[in-house]
Amino acid sequence: MRRYVIAGNWKMNMTPKGAEALIGEMKPLVEGKNNCDVVLCVPAIDIPAAVEAAKGSNIKIGAENVHFKASGAYTGEISAEMLVEAGVEYVVIGHSERRQYFGETDQTVNLRTLAALNAGLKAIVCVGETLEQRELGYTETLLKYQTKMALTNVTPEQMNNVIIAYEPVWAIGTGVTATADQADEGNGYVRAAVAEMFGADIANKTVVQYGGSMNDKNAAELLSKENVDGGLIGGASLKPAAFAAIVDAAQ
Ligand code: PEP
Repeated sequence: MRRYVIAGNWKMNMTPKGAEALIGEMKPLVEGKNNCDVVLCVPAIDIPAAVEAAKGSNIKIGAENVHFKASGAYTGEISAEMLVEAGVEYVVIGHSERRQYFGETDQTVNLRTLAALNAGLKAIVCVGETLEQRELGYTETLLKYQTKMALTNVTPEQMNNVIIAYEPVWAIGTGVTATADQADEGNGYVRAAVAEMFGADIANKTVVQYGGSMNDKNAAELLSKENVDGGLIGGASLKPAAFAAIVDAAQ
């Protein structure tokens, strides 16, 4: 019933020329792999080059952030309308790096999510616990709280365009992957929160990704889990062969 979404998050890597070259390499490797959506979320400056390079392929382009206001005095920010006009279809919201380094809060994650959805973008909303929160036993409480805060005022119809990425902070960029059971459990808490807000039908249709050091070696096991509907992939999305192998694992 749910379709896998395999999304790369390049973070602050690749120039526009590099983006063009990397997507050129990636295209033939993921061609015809139509059993999942293939998405690359790229730095804002790379968007035009990435959209152009991905033309005619099954790769969709996403952004890594979006502002919640439509326009105005917000120096350095990018609106949802700007992203849509540039050919962007997806946007990552509330990544733990934005929460950690750029003052992102559950409130701003919610506002960005609403702005993205109202503009017709697909929102990849990130939630996840730190190691300390996990060790204190707060994982379920925290994941449910972050999920519910992010989805406040989202309509049931808009949930078709919501993807939630469970990304344990301790597993991002560390090489430490959650076990498949931990990923399944975390994703299950997220789905339960969606069910509490929107009912079981919508929860069962909502795509919940796992993210955190997913790679070509561990993807098949993670994706085999009931609640894992895809991946948000940082490091391995910069390596065409590794990313393509994850796409293969989702076929
Ligand atoms: C991410 O950036 O969302 C991520 C999961 O990174 P990595 O795959 O490198 O851990």
